[in-house]
Amino acid sequence: MLKKGLRNPSVIIIGAGMSGILMTIKLREAGITDITILEKKSNIGGTWRENSYPGVACDIPAHMYTYSFEPNPEWSHRFAYGSEIQEYFERVGRKYGVTEKVRFNEAVVDSQYKNAKWYVKTSKGEHLVADFIVCATGILHHPAKPNITGLESFKGDMFHTAQWNHDVELKGKRIGVIGTGSTAAQVIPELIKKAGKVSVFQRTAQWIVNIPNRQYSEAHKARWRNNPHLMTVLKNRYAKAIEQTFSKAVTGHKLQHLMVSIFCKYNLRTSIKDKSLRKKLTPSYTPGCKRLIANNTFYSAIQKPNADLVTQGIERITEQGIITKDGQLHELDVLVLSTGFKPFNFMRPMNLVGKDGVHINEIWHKKVKAYRSICIPQLPNFFLMLGPNTPIGNYSVIAMSEVQCDYVLKLIAQWRQGSFDEISATPKAMNEFNDYLKKGMGKTAWVGGCQSWYLDDDGDPAMWPYTWNQWVKEMAEPCMSDFHTEFCQPQASSMAV
Ligand code: NAP
Repeated sequence: MLKKGLRNPSVIIIGAGMSGILMTIKLREAGITDITILEKKSNIGGTWRENSYPGVACDIPAHMYTYSFEPNPEWSHRFAYGSEIQEYFERVGRKYGVTEKVRFNEAVVDSQYKNAKWYVKTSKGEHLVADFIVCATGILHHPAKPNITGLESFKGDMFHTAQWNHDVELKGKRIGVIGTGSTAAQVIPELIKKAGKVSVFQRTAQWIVNIPNRQYSEAHKARWRNNPHLMTVLKNRYAKAIEQTFSKAVTGHKLQHLMVSIFCKYNLRTSIKDKSLRKKLTPSYTPGCKRLIANNTFYSAIQKPNADLVTQGIERITEQGIITKDGQLHELDVLVLSTGFKPFNFMRPMNLVGKDGVHINEIWHKKVKAYRSICIPQLPNFFLMLGPNTPIGNYSVIAMSEVQCDYVLKLIAQWRQGSFDEISATPKAMNEFNDYLKKGMGKTAWVGGCQSWYLDDDGDPAMWPYTWNQWVKEMAEPCMSDFHTEFCQPQASSMAV
């Protein structure tokens, strides 16, 4: 309901994944009705719509990986499978009337800022104007293909894990997997169950922590249905446990790091019997330097007779398969690229042009950064969800998104009260925030001698280096002296709408 005297802004939300759905719900709750949601694909769900590879799951406990206002008694396991997470988002989208409002198959190709308005052009050739843009395009959604000689010459079936080809029969096939990250650890055991042979091409070994994936009984679910508060209790317990262990372990807390290191090393030693295989699977860097993998299927799967861990390094790819540096040809029918994502693209390749005609590529030319991960100084009235330095060691991105959403709503609330027409973070605030982040990075595990998707071109982790509690505290209220605000005269627009 629009409160008397308050302005009702028009808001364009780009992306109908987890954070776009959340933002729509929260804006509406605040009484904002003029919302346009643009989604490039034909369904909501973001990551969970895109990633349908066998074994896809979330390695954050399911009861923690839910919106705080929408607990889910139906989770089948402690770590939910991708399909049930997708169902969850679809259910929430329907329940809150989000899905019916999404403009599907309509990507934003061009956004230009002028005089307190965003002028947006979509892939369908539509022109829209809004007071605010919320960019909810996610972090890991641009698949990265490896730069390996001959990749395109491979004559078998080849696809990235985020673009799984479900038409390809896997039974009895010779399958190659490049990569050993969180995705690979989930997909490889499923492939080993079906394939004739699975060759895993490992460039760098990974630390893996084993947390049993408990199945929830009907009795559990009934109890949660009858008393939803129990789910909040469980969620808070998981959140506390993760915050106190994994999150602290990677952000410079020695005791927690030691504990997690012991878990990982114990898991490796007790799970892998063969000493030479164990040696190959032993990383040379500190646990948590790359994102810690929580998994309890990979180590047993890689010891199956039809599994082969190849560590010789890839020389090139041919029509028949992969030739490793020792000259051996590994003949393959299917090649799976579990090679991760380009994490610094964010909303790009959108043609995003801010104040005074400055392009996002220019703004981010030297470094991809955003004040409080959300605001980019030259892009007024533009909020980036899950922007650079949002991720907090192995914590739920839903919880992060909820905190960011509240922060954005507080800024929009001031616009509604007429405190300004235009708001942007000051360059000074941006630089100070960046210095503050940098100061915390030295003690983190991410700079512990490995290469990972966390690191930008300068070798700086695009992560939050302090604790979750610290982040929540600092995000509780926007510091208004860090923002530049303006009133803008209404202006005849020269842009067609
Ligand atoms: P990733 O962690 O970036 O792993 C990519 C893998 O591909 C690495 O093993 C990398 O080797 C390898 N690789 C890349 N290029 C290569 C090349 N040219 N030759 C050989 N190997 C190459 O990607 P991901 O596994 O897709 O995971 C990305 C992130 O997604 C995770 O860190 C996590 O945040 C998220 N995720 C979460 C879940 C969950 O359950 N919550 C599940 C899956 C993914 P190097 O290590 O040597 O670079």
